[in-house]
Amino acid sequence: MKTLRRTMLDWYDRHHRTLPWRSEPGDLPNPYHVWLSEIMLQQTTVITVGPYFAAFLARWPTVIDLANAELDDVLHAWQGLGYYARARNLHKCAKVVATDYDGRFPDTEDGLLKLPGIGPYTAAAVSAIAFNRPSSPVDGNIERVISRLFALETPLPDVKPEIKEKTATLTPPDRPGDYAQALMDLGATICTPRNPACAICPWQAFCEGRKTGIAPDLPKKRKKPAKPTRVGYAFWVQRDDGKILIRRRPETGLLGGLYEVPGSVWRAIKAPDAIMRDEAPLKADWRELGGTVGHTFTHFHLDITVLVTRFNANTAAEPDGVWTSIDGLADFALPTVMKKVVRHALKHL
Ligand code: SF4
Repeated sequence: MKTLRRTMLDWYDRHHRTLPWRSEPGDLPNPYHVWLSEIMLQQTTVITVGPYFAAFLARWPTVIDLANAELDDVLHAWQGLGYYARARNLHKCAKVVATDYDGRFPDTEDGLLKLPGIGPYTAAAVSAIAFNRPSSPVDGNIERVISRLFALETPLPDVKPEIKEKTATLTPPDRPGDYAQALMDLGATICTPRNPACAICPWQAFCEGRKTGIAPDLPKKRKKPAKPTRVGYAFWVQRDDGKILIRRRPETGLLGGLYEVPGSVWRAIKAPDAIMRDEAPLKADWRELGGTVGHTFTHFHLDITVLVTRFNANTAAEPDGVWTSIDGLADFALPTVMKKVVRHALKHL
């Protein structure tokens, strides 16, 4: 065990990745930077996160600055990272840290777990990396490395508890943060999903997956059921001055707090036309555009049909929402699916 730890830390000292939120091996980084990067890195690559991380820090240099920001501004700055619940929780968490903790993050896994948007992985990562506590975060990279090192053939997610336990046993008490980052780096640069570069791996002499030749097939994954498809309408309402109607989605739920082209409920089965049209923001003659807009969320595919009408203030009541020019859409936090709706409408109108 000691040899495994030492070879990994020696490798990290020489080959660690330089990332904007990191400190040099042996130094403690700013907990705000670590937390911000860990939230951004959930479901998102290092390359994508880099510019967002820099932009957030330039605009909100401390957690207190972020706590004082408007949620709309945070959601707007988050555009393109997706999974917007993360941004809402990020803002909520900043407020709690600023008001209840005097702007300082709790320095233990248990303390961090009490904060909004911080689950077991993030609590372990921040506690190890920012505070050098003996925590053992397990992300996708670490899952891969450990399952190969021990040749664990049970498929994910059933194998997770075993990986967690082995990772915890291996974590060195003196440099847990560097060790966690070393495993993350090994998984990202050498023990990669398809072609692990075992010849240059510091653990090649100990790796059961390499010895038995099954490493590239690990970790195994249980087959996921196919994603269901939902359908819905988007109602494109345009005024004579060219402005279109958008509205803010409810604060909670999928894409909460973001702006949208008004739409029907998204249903598993296409509802009778009359029901879907009843959910339009106003009574009008609707024209259906050709084709549909497809988008895939974590748990389902969505197919949106776009209906178009002109708004006439003399014959229809003012609908709820905001009128904006097409250029003005850039000022609103619009999720990717709604950007697709806008592109589709502009192309087919
Ligand atoms: Fe991964 Fe190969 Fe290293 Fe094993 S020897 S941990 S499979 S890179």
